[in-house]
Amino acid sequence: MQDKKYQVLKSVFGYDEFRGQQAKIIDHILSGKNAMVLMPTGAGKSLCYQIPGLCLEGLTIVVSPLIALMENQVVALQQLGVKAAFLNSSRNFEENFSVIKQMRSNELDLVYVAPERMLSESFLSLLDECNVSLFAIDEAHCVSQWGHDFRPEYQQLEVLRQQFPNVPRVALTATADKLTRKDILKCIGIEEDNVFVSSFDRPNIKYHIKLKNNAKIQLINFLNTHHPDDSGIVYCISRKRVMQMTEYLIQNGFKALPYHAGLDNDIRSKNQERFIKEDNIIIVATVAFGMGIDKPDVRFVAHMDLPKSIESYYQETGRAGRDGLSANAWLVYGLQDISLQKKFLDDSDAPPKQKELERQKLESLLGFVEATQCRREFLLKYFGETQEENNCGKCDNCLMPVKSFDATVAVQKALSCVFRTGQKFGTGHVIDVLLGKSTAKVQSNRHDKLSTYGIGKEFGLNEWKSILRQAVSIGLLNVDLDDNSSLKLAARAKTVLKGEEKIFLRQDKNPAGKAKESVAGPRKKVEFDSILDQELFDKLKQHRLSIARAQGVPPYVIFHDSVLAQMVLNKPKHIYELRKIPGIGEVKLDRYGESFLDVVNNSTGKIILKR
Ligand code: ADP
Ligand code: ZN
Repeated sequence: MQDKKYQVLKSVFGYDEFRGQQAKIIDHILSGKNAMVLMPTGAGKSLCYQIPGLCLEGLTIVVSPLIALMENQVVALQQLGVKAAFLNSSRNFEENFSVIKQMRSNELDLVYVAPERMLSESFLSLLDECNVSLFAIDEAHCVSQWGHDFRPEYQQLEVLRQQFPNVPRVALTATADKLTRKDILKCIGIEEDNVFVSSFDRPNIKYHIKLKNNAKIQLINFLNTHHPDDSGIVYCISRKRVMQMTEYLIQNGFKALPYHAGLDNDIRSKNQERFIKEDNIIIVATVAFGMGIDKPDVRFVAHMDLPKSIESYYQETGRAGRDGLSANAWLVYGLQDISLQKKFLDDSDAPPKQKELERQKLESLLGFVEATQCRREFLLKYFGETQEENNCGKCDNCLMPVKSFDATVAVQKALSCVFRTGQKFGTGHVIDVLLGKSTAKVQSNRHDKLSTYGIGKEFGLNEWKSILRQAVSIGLLNVDLDDNSSLKLAARAKTVLKGEEKIFLRQDKNPAGKAKESVAGPRKKVEFDSILDQELFDKLKQHRLSIARAQGVPPYVIFHDSVLAQMVLNKPKHIYELRKIPGIGEVKLDRYGESFLDVVNNSTGKIILKR
């Protein structure tokens, strides 16, 4: 059985090595034990149950919460020549019936089902007739009310251990939350010592968090520099912003499509489908978009507005770079975003306990965006992991270190200026008073007579903006959006004014100035030394697209970008050379090998020698 798993890895999936804990987990499952697998997105969870499914006699049942997700998985498996199928309500009676027939006659290795079907009596009794060897519960966090995608049907999956006590169960999720983990163990019936936790680091994702000055232009600069023709997601806070941003991207020559809950169902699913099946589409979306999308070649996720929590940020940015190739997570924020998120919270009519939890989560997020330390280190620590290396070299703070400074006196000046001007003015006027400007507003309010008039000349306009923003972030000041965005003192301001608390703030580089975009990272997902290589890569992509179109499947299920890139680098002349490239299993080699060799060799002008 041991060797079999390697054989399947190579012949079906075309890979030579297991990654991380995959081998250990697969052995564990093959020995008949239950398991809970916690791995970040893109780490390779699927193989952990697919390979046992192929090694074990009998049928593996995979419970999956979303139709789109199971269809994608099954299409990808069928491309590999695996006998896999799915059962769900999107299919007609005949189609489902034919799958059931195949199940009865033992013709399938893996069957994907939605939880509600799984729980139906007729299905459970069908399973009694089949030789089920493994249950895999994908997206297992759906059992938990604490998770972000609670699905009540998932909780009833406890029936599995009652009805099939001898069939091992493996639950998989990318959610790191502790409460969620506990719920999964309890509900699916998995013992504490059968838990496999991987690091939640996403090493191929680069994190960049910037101050907003003109968000639209900042985004265009970022895209032009780093993702001129890549697939990506742009998250916006509202439907209106989604539509505006889509239009703006189109005007600037990008292939952008909108996605939000207010769009017609047809349009929404068409846009999602195009995003998955075409190259270089940018989807502009509210957070309604993303769950169930396992497109591997999303090269960037951009946030035009602040997410709700670190969990949401991690989840949303995690949709980039599933294929392990370099990807960017990019976010811009400003004082307005902070005030807006705080207002949402204040206005929400959630029960007090939940509101408090959400408030803490928002505070953590604000701490994260304003942090001066390595972003990766911050994220991992938040999820309970400590990192040995505290300079990842792949986030804005590591690439361009920022200092923090003792801002106690500055903040005291700002707070008292807010107080003396009557807590009725916004940042602009407060800063004018601090700087001793003689504006009409200053004159008419006689603010030039205040003791705080002109006491802040040691800083410039942008520095004061940065200080005030951070004072709002850390809860010393509130912005009252219902009263002309006027600044008000928060309760915590007292301790600072009394000198009982020291305040350290981030020394923004070019705070809100006209900084040029300077995100480090590759211009293209795959960079080649020569133009010829780049052309060959584009030709291979074109060829892949025509095959995918003919079959109505996404291009990446034919071959991943990394496989095409390897073809460019190795320039294989023979099938046996192609076989060495990771990600090309036997069935794909047979189906597509020759035609891709033709593209490579026609392009390089070398003599073609086939097997
Ligand atoms: P997850 O479900 O954890 O998000 P997937 O199972 O979809 O991740 O795997 C992510 C990508 O990594 C897939 O393209 C998969 O083919 C690839 N992959 C998984 N295991 C390996 C491996 N051992 N070697 C190379 N690539 C792998
Ligand atoms: Zn870092």
